Amino acid sequence: MEIFEPEDSRSTLFAEILLPVPIPKLFTYRVPAKLNDHVRTGQRAIVQFGDRKVLTGLIYNVHETPPKDYEAKYILEVLDEFPSVTDVQLKFFQWMADYYMCTMGEVMNAALPAGLKLSSESMVQLHPAFSLEESEHAFSEKEQMLLKRLQHDTLTYSEIAKFLGVKYIYSILKSLTGKNAIVLFEEVKEKYKPRTEKRIRLTAEMNKEEALEELFKTLSSKPKQESVVLKYLQEVPVLHDHANNKTGITKKDLLTDDISESSLHTLIKNNVFEEFEIVVPRFGFEEAHEVPVVLLSEEQQRAQGEIFKSFEQHNITLLHGITGSGKTEIYINLIKKALESDAQVLYLLPEIALTTQIVQRLKKVFGPAMGVYHSKFSDNERVEVWNGVLSGKLKFVTGVRSSVFLPFDNLGLIIIDEEHDASYKQQEPAPRYHARDAALVMAQLHHAKVLLGSATPAVETYYHAEQNKYGLVRLDKRFGDAQLPEIVLADMGEERKRKTIKGEFSGLLLKNIGEALSLKEQVIIFQNRRGYSPMVNCEDCGWVPKCVNCAVSLTYHQFRNAMVCHYCGYREALKSNCPVCTSTRITTVGYGTEKLEEELKLHFPDASVQRMDLDTTRSKTGYDSIIEQFETGQTQVLVGTQMVTKGLDFDKVSLVGVFNADRMMHFPDFRSYERAYQLITQVSGRAGRRDKKGKVVIQTSSPEHPVLTHILHHHYQEFYRREVDDRKQHSYPPFSRLIEITVKHIDKKACRDAAVMLAEQLRTHLQGVRILGPGEPMISKIRNQFLMSVLIKIPRGKSDLVQIKTIIQQHIDQVLKEKIFRNARIICDVDPV
Ligand SMILES: [Zn+2]
Ligand SMILES: [Zn+2]
Repeated sequence: MEIFEPEDSRSTLFAEILLPVPIPKLFTYRVPAKLNDHVRTGQRAIVQFGDRKVLTGLIYNVHETPPKDYEAKYILEVLDEFPSVTDVQLKFFQWMADYYMCTMGEVMNAALPAGLKLSSESMVQLHPAFSLEESEHAFSEKEQMLLKRLQHDTLTYSEIAKFLGVKYIYSILKSLTGKNAIVLFEEVKEKYKPRTEKRIRLTAEMNKEEALEELFKTLSSKPKQESVVLKYLQEVPVLHDHANNKTGITKKDLLTDDISESSLHTLIKNNVFEEFEIVVPRFGFEEAHEVPVVLLSEEQQRAQGEIFKSFEQHNITLLHGITGSGKTEIYINLIKKALESDAQVLYLLPEIALTTQIVQRLKKVFGPAMGVYHSKFSDNERVEVWNGVLSGKLKFVTGVRSSVFLPFDNLGLIIIDEEHDASYKQQEPAPRYHARDAALVMAQLHHAKVLLGSATPAVETYYHAEQNKYGLVRLDKRFGDAQLPEIVLADMGEERKRKTIKGEFSGLLLKNIGEALSLKEQVIIFQNRRGYSPMVNCEDCGWVPKCVNCAVSLTYHQFRNAMVCHYCGYREALKSNCPVCTSTRITTVGYGTEKLEEELKLHFPDASVQRMDLDTTRSKTGYDSIIEQFETGQTQVLVGTQMVTKGLDFDKVSLVGVFNADRMMHFPDFRSYERAYQLITQVSGRAGRRDKKGKVVIQTSSPEHPVLTHILHHHYQEFYRREVDDRKQHSYPPFSRLIEITVKHIDKKACRDAAVMLAEQLRTHLQGVRILGPGEPMISKIRNQFLMSVLIKIPRGKSDLVQIKTIIQQHIDQVLKEKIFRNARIICDVDPV
């Protein structure tokens, strides 16, 4: 009897695909029947989008309902055997899109490393460690053709399709990636350079007992070569098991104790040994780590005990520990405990703190169990960490804000260090998320505990602790009984009268620098403004050079001898004549790090001075080498922007000088006092260590200012009290939530009109909220786009946030539908920082 099963009895499946595009919807594609049993939520799929584009999307769900008004295209290829994105992550993406008023596609784009998003713009290169002859895999004819071509060229996706004469090449690329033959990368990013290691092993002919016996006979008269072979056999026990020969030994390990390199080379020439290269993963096989013993002081032990206790009642706990109190040791202990219970751990740090000492220190303790996720890494390195977390090989990641997107499935603990730091907030592009707040949501999804750490907690955070929403643990003593620095003010008004100011430096600061240098101690100078001078002007007519694209004056950079826009990068040469009145009296006004560096070199010609700001640290190594030179004492004075305030521990810094405290405090923003308090306290914390009390000199023209008084006496609580009362009175966070809406348009009038229309509509339709504006933001034009902003203040607790956001979005869409505003862009920033 014939069993007849018609092909069409199989159901037709459709998949909703999330694509990395700023359109707020999912797209329906048809699943090819052969993939019916393989499609799963969270897998990456390749689809055609529009006429020409090919994109990688995520399968969001699978069902049997065809789309109503169009015919679904087929999915071209499913890239993963197992999901690349977990269910918890998809929930998290959805939350982020809703909360921060952006699309899921934008969230996905921020979340996935580019290396996971194959598109028609992707480039393909041969894997540097691949050799067609030596590979153990079999290759089809087409694959071989492509691999031969790639030996000479790097090709784009479409070039490959053309070269092979095939329309869809995903299955070929997928197969080759699986065989480690090729690497995909985005054109804009650097190519993948795997870390390789040279190793030595016996040749196949030599890796036999008889052959080795013969060899020793011939070597009896060549003791040097003999000792090389003996050393090898000692380190790599091939006689015990010949398979041990496969991975051999590194050259470095072989050439110890007087083993001669030239003898090794002779043996290689004589075909006894061979040299080969292996690719070493970025994480995983680093040197075995020392078994660490972290000894906590009594103070730290007490704090740790309190944290455990606090976790019994609060999922979120704030560790308020003064600078130098040894929070890191406590973190290390907590991480170890969490890992022992088999949970995953995420340790978040602000961007700039990550390249420094702390990572070295954690590496020593956790070795290969820890992954590092950093924006200065290449995409392929990020993909390695991503896959390490996904496969469960990596249980612990230390990373910057984007590591909240990693595919954890069993997070037990999140530590957010320096939780007050503004760099946790992503400004551009969407999603404009705050990694601290997003991590709190992540923790909720995983039922994980969160420890927030800071010497200067954000006002919002401290408020929640005070309200008993978060637990609170204090660490008030510096580690090892070191003392907090003595802070003094240099009264610039007074010094001006007495004429003791030289250039930008007060007499008091100069005197202290001189003393510190004579004692061979180190000095940090903090000025939160890079460049030489923030402004150039004509002394006769007052002309100030402005950026041609933005409403800002140009900053003079001496080392480039150019005036530069810090917003769009525009630059022009410094003019010798004023273009308005032809005067030659062109001068610079104000000062940045570059000018301070120059003045320091004049005042202290024998001291070595280094500068650390965006201009001197564009490369990863630039940053590391400045730190290293300061650490080893080659540099005596370090001048820098807020980079110098973060995560650095130096032993010999006895003095910190703070410039322009006034500008920080008087910046027109409701957070300016908080910022000033945090920055100055953090940089002050760099002064003085174990055995010596440090000193901090703050230059100011308002020595009576209450913020400075609080800083002087290390009075966080008093500062907080004053600040929180002020916020309450003016209904700022934490007593309200803010949404800042920015309208951008190339035409000034259209920009204003659109903002006015939006504000009016919102006033009519939104009840119980305050709408401020529209008004010009401080910088009213950037990159030739005019800006207008509307600020919405939503009282906390009383209003339905979801509903408010929906109404806002509806009215934004309506404004954008108007023909005259077609080219406007409207951006929502929820909880702006
Ligand atoms: Zn002039
Ligand atoms: Zn500009």
